[in-house]
Amino acid sequence: MRFRFCPECGNQLSSRVLGDEGEVPWCEKCNRPWFDMFSTCVICLVVSESGKICLLRQYNIDHHVFVAGYIKDGECAEKTAMREVAEETGLNVISARFLKSFFYEKRDQLMLGFLVRVKDGEFNISSEVDEAGWFDFDEAVMAVRGASICDKLLTEYKAGATK
Ligand SMILES: [Zn+2]
Repeated sequence: MRFRFCPECGNQLSSRVLGDEGEVPWCEKCNRPWFDMFSTCVICLVVSESGKICLLRQYNIDHHVFVAGYIKDGECAEKTAMREVAEETGLNVISARFLKSFFYEKRDQLMLGFLVRVKDGEFNISSEVDEAGWFDFDEAVMAVRGASICDKLLTEYKAGATK
């Protein structure tokens, strides 16, 4: 999203050359730039201590997906990853490690891919989730078919696991 008006004062923005950034939208009244904006989200490959992968089904969609969610203002991405997994699955989270990021142009979202380790256990899913289940690696690859970021994170995880 490119700003045309200042979100603080409503002034129509002009543009100004700002060092290496080149031309950026600029508010003459507030004397500050407004960089193009996008949402930042986490997407979590959830793996249990016994090596099972947790996938969700949501919003009546057929294929399975990973836990995902928006980063809140003031929250660091690791915390978001752990919070979202705990909220959506009800599992006990052990750790979150950054794997790889993706830009999802269709929704103007920067997706930060995490590997989130959890304890084995029973699901206690949130109302946002239709169903959660445990999958072996190969089953997970089949189940997320069509969801390209999930697919790429699984590949990344497998490459790391065999190093
Ligand atoms: Zn302004």
